[in-house]
Amino acid sequence: MVGFTDEIGRYLETKFGNSIDEASERQVYQALMVKTRDKLSEKRFDYNKKLKDSKQKQAFYMSMEFLVGRTLRNNLFNLGLEKEVKDYLEKNGFTLDKIYDIEPDPGLGNGGLGRLASCYMDALTSQDYPMTGFSILYEFGIFKQVIHDGWQQEYPDNWLDLGSYGLAYRSDEEVEIKFYGSTREEWTDKGLKITHNDYTSVIAEPYDLLISGYHSEAVNTLRLWRAKANKGFNMKLFEKGEYARSVESDVIAESISKLLYPADDNDTGKALRIKQQYFFTSASLQQIVRNHYATYSTLDNLAEKVVIHINDTHPAMCIPELMRILLDEYEYSWEDAWNIVTKTFAYTNHTIMAEALEKWSVDLFKPILPRIYSIIAEINNRFCEWCKRIGALSELETMSIIHNNMIKMANLCIVSSYNVNGVSKLHSDILVEDTFKSFNRIYPGKFNNVTNGIAHRRWIAQSNPELTSYLNDLLKVDFVKDLSKIEKLYDYKDDRSVIEDLEKIKLLKKAQLSKYIKESTGINVDNESIFDVQVKRLHEYKRQLLNALHIVYLYRKIKFDGLRPVPRTFIFGAKASSGYAMAKNIIKFICTLSEMIEADPVVRNYVKVVFLEDYRVTLAEKIIPAANVSEQISQAGKEASGTGNMKLMLNGALTLGTMDGANVEIHEAVGDKNIFIFGLSTPEVNELIKNGYRPIDYYRSSSEIRDTLEFIRTINLNGSNFNNIVDYLINSDPYMCLADFHSYVEKQKEVENTYLDKNKWGSMSLVNIAKAGIFSADRSTEEYAKNIWNIDIVK
Ligand SMILES: *Cc1c(COP(=O)(O)O)cnc(C)c1O
Repeated sequence: MVGFTDEIGRYLETKFGNSIDEASERQVYQALMVKTRDKLSEKRFDYNKKLKDSKQKQAFYMSMEFLVGRTLRNNLFNLGLEKEVKDYLEKNGFTLDKIYDIEPDPGLGNGGLGRLASCYMDALTSQDYPMTGFSILYEFGIFKQVIHDGWQQEYPDNWLDLGSYGLAYRSDEEVEIKFYGSTREEWTDKGLKITHNDYTSVIAEPYDLLISGYHSEAVNTLRLWRAKANKGFNMKLFEKGEYARSVESDVIAESISKLLYPADDNDTGKALRIKQQYFFTSASLQQIVRNHYATYSTLDNLAEKVVIHINDTHPAMCIPELMRILLDEYEYSWEDAWNIVTKTFAYTNHTIMAEALEKWSVDLFKPILPRIYSIIAEINNRFCEWCKRIGALSELETMSIIHNNMIKMANLCIVSSYNVNGVSKLHSDILVEDTFKSFNRIYPGKFNNVTNGIAHRRWIAQSNPELTSYLNDLLKVDFVKDLSKIEKLYDYKDDRSVIEDLEKIKLLKKAQLSKYIKESTGINVDNESIFDVQVKRLHEYKRQLLNALHIVYLYRKIKFDGLRPVPRTFIFGAKASSGYAMAKNIIKFICTLSEMIEADPVVRNYVKVVFLEDYRVTLAEKIIPAANVSEQISQAGKEASGTGNMKLMLNGALTLGTMDGANVEIHEAVGDKNIFIFGLSTPEVNELIKNGYRPIDYYRSSSEIRDTLEFIRTINLNGSNFNNIVDYLINSDPYMCLADFHSYVEKQKEVENTYLDKNKWGSMSLVNIAKAGIFSADRSTEEYAKNIWNIDIVK
């Protein structure tokens, strides 16, 4: 058999006419990408055959976002080829890490939600579960962030230039998607027949990204749809003399998969967003139904063989789309179609923040998708009728799918799915006790919880090989295959030599990050200082501002009161949605603090602030292994789960956090002694809201808050001032930074004192690594597979 590296050599020869010693890095990169894809295709063929023969149930995961991250290292690692390739390249004068660096991040997501989808695909594949992901092939993924003079600037992310080698184009599976037009009802001998006329047609072209599993047989597919104009349709317009309209439709078509919306909560009122959602859900549903019908010659058993998972409400149009296909194309009755639909879909809720729950205005929605709208309206009518019958009329105001001329997508998902889950215990409790209380009453048992998890192979084995190989040698268990085995490390929690070894590894990762910080920002940081990390999207509720207030507090104390704290490096990474002014102000504020401190000969010896631009998966992989402190300081009740908290914990960072999202479960896992918890709890926050939160009272009653805020007013660097931020905190402070300020500052002092006791800190850090097993995405996806989807592995 020809070895993998022989194939690389052959590819270079036949494609570029070069032997490996004449090849460029760019050529080697291309050869590796293409040959890895081919290798996965071969494996995929064998796996697919078994899957087809078994006729078992399959899961389909719909998500507007998959934050894939780089693929090459993940694939070589999973296929067990990394060592062989590394040696082969080294022998020929190449460094594998430099080749990896050529690959752009496929940034087809904003943050946590998209990364979760990718972690789940990796985990399910590693466990041999049959799962297909569906999303959009955005030509431009999440923007590239450049910080200029402290302000965020957005640049297009042209990832396909170098990133497309991993994709396989499947021209044989194109489908047609219809927008606009009108519907006509017609009574035939088979009943009511609905036809859709004068529509604009767009073609969905499939591109497959093959997903590898760690030492598994499975290769699953992430199918990404790309929009292209339907030339046939346009020719007709052209012949009718409507040349301009034919070109217009090209523009509409091609804009659909042009870019990822860079808002990580919700972009309301955008017709293009509706089109994107329908485009990929319709394409995916058509394909699922077509394949199912080809195998079984009926759709009656669809729900027995297919489960379709809706990741947040963005793919909710799956539901009316399946109704449409069953009713209009396969001539099912409403009752029979609804019976299938309500056994096929499961939905994950990701947010309880009112402004982030998707709503579409009927006036915007209906002309774009007339048939889909009429189906949603009918689902709603029948649901409302049913509520009347069961005596739930008074709650219809909150439960109705269409209300005040708005379509509420979460309500559509809850009514139509057989299962609804939240993403952490706390979040799932809030769903049933508060946000969706009425639904929980009429649908007992429909709601449950699956706490999020992370692809630990990426987040420890690949991003922290030093720690992984040390733990492999020490524990002699295969925790890379099964993360629960890492708990064996707990036995060493009082072993000084192990604690010292772990500390050395942490120092090494900090040194690697320092080098990167120096190269990218010019700032010299002290590797011995506490690396205090807050990396995540920039959002008011995540409270990067609270972190910044503490930095200002320290600055004042050092400068005016002679405080000499343990040196600390505050590291931030965060993209702000391009239209989010307050988030951009906060970035500017943090960057200004960084500059101010660098200019101060005293303060800079104790505090550094580093804002690393363009936070993305590849940067997360550099920062997280180097962290000592993991800042998870959202207002309690606002962060549904968080997954950054889990990645940091697994790499030995100690959580400084509120009782929010999965922090609650991290606290439960490591115990009170191995975490720094501060701030108001969710019930306390709710109580304070009920009684009327008045930030000005905190300002008046605390000299420390007053001094901090008034000091911010004096900052004026290169013509920028931050009075707007101070006024915002005093007058509105919607996420209660001031209410939690004291508790946060006190906890930060405890962090500092604990760090001085190296042995204690090291032991706490060790316990965090040891207890991270439950946060593997393997555990989460196993729960989905067994408790919700009812699917088996392919044997
Ligand atoms: C994990 C991850 C996130 C999510 O971080 P949270 O702290 O959970 O919000 C966002 N972006 C990237 C690039 C990630 O890797």
